[in-house]
Amino acid sequence: MAASDLINLSGLIDDAKCFALVRQHRWPEGACCPVCDSGAVIRDGYDDTQPYRQRYRCKACAGRFDDLTGTVLAGHHQPLRVWVLCLPFMGLNLSNRQIALELGLDASDVQAMTEQLRRGLVAKTPPVELTGEVEVDEVYVVAGHKGQPAAVAKRGGSDAIASWQARRAAARWRRTSRPSSG
Ligand SMILES: [Zn+2]
Repeated sequence: MAASDLINLSGLIDDAKCFALVRQHRWPEGACCPVCDSGAVIRDGYDDTQPYRQRYRCKACAGRFDDLTGTVLAGHHQPLRVWVLCLPFMGLNLSNRQIALELGLDASDVQAMTEQLRRGLVAKTPPVELTGEVEVDEVYVVAGHKGQPAAVAKRGGSDAIASWQARRAAARWRRTSRPSSG
């Protein structure tokens, strides 16, 4: 299939629906302030250059933000519809190179985009640093270790650390993938 056919595909995507999709994903219960988390926000017109990008004003902290503020989609040179088109291609397990071909983009651009999308839409904030007392909400017991604390202690060391790191990474993914900080 010629690349030009597929570039037309991007042209057929409805920008208004792309922004609606982002709103629905990050704020299923209605927009809330990315700074103070307040739901007391009012609509404040649209972006000057992107006519479907809704702006908001927070009544609690007087902050201003828009549909993309605080998401990986903000401030990127690719239009939102290109990001949205990446999602089904990623779902089909296409490689970055294949997606780049389909969308007429640079493979390196697509790599950066898919990496960011995999970390979740609202993942621009730096990773949380844990200090003081930390509560862990899940405990993972290897089936073969259940009731054999001595065997676990003997293995301990690097195994335990590796599995803790894997759990921490999974928890971070879940946290950053949530539409709001909830
Ligand atoms: Zn606020």
